[in-house]
Amino acid sequence: MIDIKKYEHITGKSAIDELYFLGEKLKGKKVKNINSTAVGGGVAEILTKMGPLMKQVGVDASWDVIKGDQKFFVVTKKIHNALHGKQEPFSAEDFDYFSQTARENAKSMDLSADIMFVHDPQPIMLVEKREELKNKWIWRCHVDITEARDEVYRFLRNYISFYDSCVFSAPSFSKKDITIPQVMICPSIDPLSDKNRELEKEEIDKVFEKFGIDRSRPVITQISRFDYLKDPLGVIKVYKLVKKYNDCQLILAGGGATDDPEGMKVYEEVKESAGNDKDIHILLLPQDDLLINALQRGSDIILQKSLKEGFGLTVSEALWKEKPVIASAVGGIPLQITHKYGGLLTYSIDGTAYYLKQLLNEPAYAAQLAKNGKEHVKNNFLITRHLREYLLLFLSVYNKEDVVYF
Ligand code: UDP
Repeated sequence: MIDIKKYEHITGKSAIDELYFLGEKLKGKKVKNINSTAVGGGVAEILTKMGPLMKQVGVDASWDVIKGDQKFFVVTKKIHNALHGKQEPFSAEDFDYFSQTARENAKSMDLSADIMFVHDPQPIMLVEKREELKNKWIWRCHVDITEARDEVYRFLRNYISFYDSCVFSAPSFSKKDITIPQVMICPSIDPLSDKNRELEKEEIDKVFEKFGIDRSRPVITQISRFDYLKDPLGVIKVYKLVKKYNDCQLILAGGGATDDPEGMKVYEEVKESAGNDKDIHILLLPQDDLLINALQRGSDIILQKSLKEGFGLTVSEALWKEKPVIASAVGGIPLQITHKYGGLLTYSIDGTAYYLKQLLNEPAYAAQLAKNGKEHVKNNFLITRHLREYLLLFLSVYNKEDVVYF
């Protein structure tokens, strides 16, 4: 059971008092989160923890998930990829099917909360009900849309304009042609959750023994859904380059998300690319936070070699565990890593391999990066800061003049 007072030893008492103060101002208001999956990926990860914390400070928070069949999620995955800049072939039928599914959901869902907090493009069209319900609507975009394909962006923009405000994870994601208030709020990790809490050495050892991974040699790990945009194939190339010089092992671990139909295909390709190298461990995991926690804590270096990223929660998760992290300078990752201070940012396979070799050869440097990185996460990316900003956001839709514009 989440107890907000337990965060005081990390944040200080006044930060928690402020959350109660803000929560009090929202007393009696119902806030409903809506997204497209209850399990898998960063959005579900945050919602699982955020709802109970909101309730603790007095907000009547709930969470619901839209329903869709395989065909709908194939379209939404194409939308996701196109928002990240990928050329995707769309037909008129794709948009029709998207709209039809949204309207079916709108008929069966209770959308009458005072504030409807809609996450990402999949449920965006539910806002059509706003005119009838006369409540407040906020769209929370977790995707980096800076290079979004025009056709998809224009389609979504029609709906964005019906919201009271929208939220992005980084200032660079904002758009000049969006006329409603745009607010920047970074995602966060929960330091007390099973995903991130301290673990006993035995708990970590047990997980590594279970998978037959030898910790006497360096372990390099990337935790991600099997998704092309996380570049697991690129990670294997990095490992192969480094392996010529440094003995090490690679873990690529991830499960699926119910709204991601591509996962198994990518997983099979990754397995094929790994071949029969016994030092590459491709782990298809069930949803198990303690397992992820142990894998991150038991690894020597964490990679996040994404080609595109919304925020990249796995980076903060690893830094919080005081691990040296090498990650691509995409999406929200540069907010989490100050290059050569709290981790290393890279742009290519060769660059990642170069830094990986450096960290393997210079453990003291790696440890210093990890220490600085942890401090940065403590100051900026914990869920208590995130909750404070969400409470202020909810208040802002009732007091529009207080909204902080980009
Ligand atoms: N995650 C997990 N199990 C997995 C793979 C990922 O619990 O098998 C978690 C990961 O620890 C992180 C979230 O899912 O909390 C992924 O969020 P991120 O922002 O890194 O990427 P997204 O999947 O949202 O693109």
